[in-house]
Amino acid sequence: MTVSAESPLSMDIGEERVGAGPSEWSITETSFHPDKIHHSETIFTLGNGYLGTRGAFEEAYPDEVRSTFLHGVFDDVPVFFTELANAPDWLEMEICLADERFDLAEGILLEFSRSLNLKTASLRRDLRWRSPLGRETHLVFERFASLADPHLCALRVTITPENYAGSIQIRAGLNGEVDNLAFKHWDWLGQALQAQTAWLHSRTHSTGIELATGLCLCLNAAGRESSYEQWDVHNHPTLAAAVDARKGQAVSGTKWITYYTAREGENPLRRCLDALQALPELDWDSAWESHQRAWEAEWERSDVIIEGDEEAQKAVRFNIFQLLCAAPRGDEHVNIGAKLLSGYGYRGHSFWDTEIFMLPFFIYTHPEIAHDLLSYRWHNLPGARAKASANGFSGAQYPWESAGTGEEVTPTWVPDPDDRTKLIRIWTGDIEIHISADIAYAVWQYWQSTGDEAFLLERGAEIILETARFWSSRVEWNASLERLEINDIVGPDEYHDHVNNNAYTNTLARWNLETALQAAAWLKQEHSREWQRLSQRLVLKEAELSRWEKVIDQIYVPFDPHTNLVEQFEGFYQRKKIDLAALEPRHESMQAILGIEGINDTQVLKQADVLMLMYLLPGLYDSAVVKANFDYYSRRTDHSFGSSLGPSIQAIMACRVNDDSAYEQFMRAARTDLYDVRSNAGDGIHGASAGGLWQAAVFGFAGLERTPAGWQSHPRLPSHWTRLAFRIVDHGRVIDFDLKQ
Ligand code: BGC
Repeated sequence: MTVSAESPLSMDIGEERVGAGPSEWSITETSFHPDKIHHSETIFTLGNGYLGTRGAFEEAYPDEVRSTFLHGVFDDVPVFFTELANAPDWLEMEICLADERFDLAEGILLEFSRSLNLKTASLRRDLRWRSPLGRETHLVFERFASLADPHLCALRVTITPENYAGSIQIRAGLNGEVDNLAFKHWDWLGQALQAQTAWLHSRTHSTGIELATGLCLCLNAAGRESSYEQWDVHNHPTLAAAVDARKGQAVSGTKWITYYTAREGENPLRRCLDALQALPELDWDSAWESHQRAWEAEWERSDVIIEGDEEAQKAVRFNIFQLLCAAPRGDEHVNIGAKLLSGYGYRGHSFWDTEIFMLPFFIYTHPEIAHDLLSYRWHNLPGARAKASANGFSGAQYPWESAGTGEEVTPTWVPDPDDRTKLIRIWTGDIEIHISADIAYAVWQYWQSTGDEAFLLERGAEIILETARFWSSRVEWNASLERLEINDIVGPDEYHDHVNNNAYTNTLARWNLETALQAAAWLKQEHSREWQRLSQRLVLKEAELSRWEKVIDQIYVPFDPHTNLVEQFEGFYQRKKIDLAALEPRHESMQAILGIEGINDTQVLKQADVLMLMYLLPGLYDSAVVKANFDYYSRRTDHSFGSSLGPSIQAIMACRVNDDSAYEQFMRAARTDLYDVRSNAGDGIHGASAGGLWQAAVFGFAGLERTPAGWQSHPRLPSHWTRLAFRIVDHGRVIDFDLKQ
């Protein structure tokens, strides 16, 4: 197989040098590569469903991108409308070793390793450093964001002077001046310092979300007293602790941080102060143990075991880990951004990535998280209704990009990365409309797997009916061809915009309408009172339901029975053919090579589109049709540099048609971030690829299929895999799968 990008992580991935836990649970970096810091920061992100923190160094490093994002804490920003505000970070720690500042940009790094333990959700950096004056020190940094107490983050450094004795000083602050790539979001409300604790009270500038951050610092060396100082710097309260260390004696500094926002309840400062009081008494081991227990329970539900392929095993766990870090717990008003909580890419906005790529993992392992994510869409129906009505349509048109309020937040123009004096028009917010059907599809999937009637009655049915209503108003009558069409849109394949009758969109729209009628029939029959209430509230009359039936009959879906091909959109066959194989080896996307206009004129796809449709609605296509379309579209897809959403779906479809490319596509998805295949992992984890990877293992290689007789598995394990095991939950029942060759 060809994977074009190499990174220090990729080289280390198979070998374990340091770090707790068996190697298939660790992602390890055994040397420091200053030119790859952004990639490593993303990979070493930790999170607990409340916040996510990139793996920046405690002591800071030039050009780093350090950030902590808290779910739902959005603030206004030019161009992108709104973004997650980088919070005062819990990592900040300046270390002075006998008056020399510890700084990896200076001195000599004698040894270095950094290891993310996926099982314990902790990061450990172990290094030896010689200062410019020749002092040698061993430093071990450990950190975790507690899953047991989501408001708590812990960081510990153990410092051993190896060839000198002297004062060790640690300075730890709460920096309210943090920015999002130079844009500041926080207004100062207050601060205080006392003994070993400090707090900072801030508020986002435009959205007015309050945040209270507490800090506690402890420094210990056996037999020595530490001294503490408080530096009352405006908007950056800082604690300094010092102790005289002997040569060879380990000194340990612990920093506890606690975050509370007004999103979870009233008076975040009060709650922060209460938590802060307890921090000086908190001991590392007990906080660590609760965190461990919480993660143990997570892995019990979510692990996928692969035997015979250590790289695939690690990569799958890494991707599941990142999904678990980013998944909100018990919060119905937030979604998961395309880059999870791990970077500035897409500014924390959510796309169809959640419902179509990530949600199946949650439906089958953490249905309560899936429930909350879908509830976010229900709470945001007003935004979707407003979008539909602003465009002259009825029902609910979900935004392509969604954030705090559920309004459309896709930027309209962005600077051209190749020439910053120019702007590029982004059309997706205007015309990539399939997301409304994708959300309805996800609701139906959730309902089918959980049987959560309360959700369907109170929330899910409304989403399905309102999106159906949108489609019924969005279709256009083509009088000469006597059919209904959906024109001027972008389908999943974003290399082509302003297309007519995209097969994916039209078929999903039809499915949405059919499912709405099915849901209405079920409600009428089983829950007539609820139906009465809902239909009255939505002013949904029988005549409207009859119109939906007509739309279902008349909507045009391209299909040629002679070739068995589904044309991706009208006129696709007339676009220019490009022989992708002849362009290998290639190091950039086809869009970068041909330009935005250029790629539009070709038959090259950014990602699965017709195949995506066949994956989601398998009942509509027989195996000959799937095979014909697989062969046709696979050759035309920019697999290596197109969308990161492509390879996992491509892998599943390859399994379905028994094509040899399944493993190559699976590993392409598995390596997306670990290998930085698209050179943009520095912007954050590709969450859809992570979710797609889980689906590729479960619905691809394990071939899991729901049939009227229950779940069936048609395993198609890669030949060197000796075992694939995982667990799903269906209607509250846990089902274990343990597949061997
Ligand atoms: C993909 C979309 C995706 C978005 C966010 C784009 O590059 O084409 O399908 O939703 O990224 O991940």
